[in-house]
Amino acid sequence: MYGMSGYDIFLSSPTMHGDEMKFVREAFDTNWVAPLGRNVDEFEKELAAYIGVGFGAALCSGTAALHLAYKWVGLRPGELVFCSDLTFSATVNPISYEGGRQVFIDSERETWNMNPAALALAFEKYPKPRAVVLVHLYGTPARIDEIRAICDAHGVPLIEDAAESLGATYRGRQTGSFGDLSVVSFNGNKIITSSGGGMLLSDDERAIVKARFWATQSRDPAPHYQHSEIGYNYRMSNVVAGIGRGQLLHLDEHIAAKKRIYFTYQGAFADLPIQMNLYLAESEPNFWLSCLTINEGCPVTPQQVMTALAGIRAESRPIWKPMHCQPVFAGCEFVTVADKPVSEDIFARGLCLPSDIKMTDADLARVIETVRDVFYV
Ligand SMILES: *Cc1c(COP(=O)(O)O)cnc(C)c1O
Repeated sequence: MYGMSGYDIFLSSPTMHGDEMKFVREAFDTNWVAPLGRNVDEFEKELAAYIGVGFGAALCSGTAALHLAYKWVGLRPGELVFCSDLTFSATVNPISYEGGRQVFIDSERETWNMNPAALALAFEKYPKPRAVVLVHLYGTPARIDEIRAICDAHGVPLIEDAAESLGATYRGRQTGSFGDLSVVSFNGNKIITSSGGGMLLSDDERAIVKARFWATQSRDPAPHYQHSEIGYNYRMSNVVAGIGRGQLLHLDEHIAAKKRIYFTYQGAFADLPIQMNLYLAESEPNFWLSCLTINEGCPVTPQQVMTALAGIRAESRPIWKPMHCQPVFAGCEFVTVADKPVSEDIFARGLCLPSDIKMTDADLARVIETVRDVFYV
C-alpha cells in the first residue's frame, strides 16, 4: 500500500494483471515508447470495437477528448451547451476553454442523470444550444432514448460523457455508442486505467481524423512545419496505450467484481433507511461506484458514515457537488422541473462507498459492519 494515502481500503484504485506489461514491454523492445506506435493504433481499434463505434482517437485524458468534442461541434464564444448538472467538473470545464457557456440540467431520481423533462424545458428557454453533454454517473446509464429523441428533434448534437460508464449497456448497446461523439477515460480511479488517458469515439471518421490532427499540434500535411490552425499536445503515448490494451482484456472481469460489491452492499443494507443508487431495467451499469442516499427524516448524515469508514481506514467520498452550486459556475443558468433541485438533494443525502475490486471478503464485511453500526448505535 502507498503509505501516504491513509487508507487500507480504497474507493477505486488501479488493478493491474500482468497483461499490461506485455504490451508495454513490446513498446520498449521495439523502441516505440513514443510517440504513438502500434499500441496506440491497436488500442483505438480494440476499444472502438468493444463499444461498437467506427473510430477512436486515443488522447492524454478524457478531459482532452471532451475539449476536442466541443471543438468538433463548432462551439464558439458565448454559445450554450446543455450539461448534466450532477457530474465531475471535467465534463464541463472544456466548454469554458472555448468560451462557451454551460446551462446545467437537473437530475432525475432513478439514475441521478439528466432529467429529460428538464432538458425539454431548457430547449423552451434557450432554443439554440451548440450541443448537449450527457453523463452516465457512477457507471449508471442515463435515460438515453428520451434524451437522444429531444436532441434529434432540435437537430442538436449529443456528446456522451461515458468516462465513468465504460462497459455499461443500455438496451444491450454500450454507453459511448449513442452520442454523435463520445468520450471515455482511463484515469487512475476509473474501471480500467492506462495510468491516465482518454478516448474520443465516433462513427464519423472525419471527426476522429480531425481530433488526431488537433491533438498533434495541428500540423498541416506539408514537408515543413506549417500550421493553419491552433493545435494541442493531446495524444496518448505508446506506453500508456500498452497499459490500456492490457486492462481492456480485464474490463468484463472488473465489471463482474464491481457488480458483486454492489449487490453485497444492497443485500447487507436491505433493512437500513438507505437507498442504493438505482438503475433502469433496460440498462446494465458497470457498477463503477456503489453509492447510497440516506432516507429523508433519518438523522444519520453522510458525513457520519464517511467519518466512521475513515476510522477503519476505508475511503469513501461525497457525491459530486452539483455544477450549479460551484463558485466557478455561479453565473451559469440551471434548469429544473422540481421544487427542490434533485441534484442538490442527492448531494446532501448521498455518499460513495468503498468500491475497490481488490477488497477481500473480510474488508467488505468490515465496511458493511461499520456502516451498519452508524445506523444502529
Ligand atoms: C474522470 C471523468 C472525466 C475526465 O476524465 P480524465 O481522463 O480524468 O480527464 C470526465 N467526466 C467524468 C464524468 C469523469 O468522471
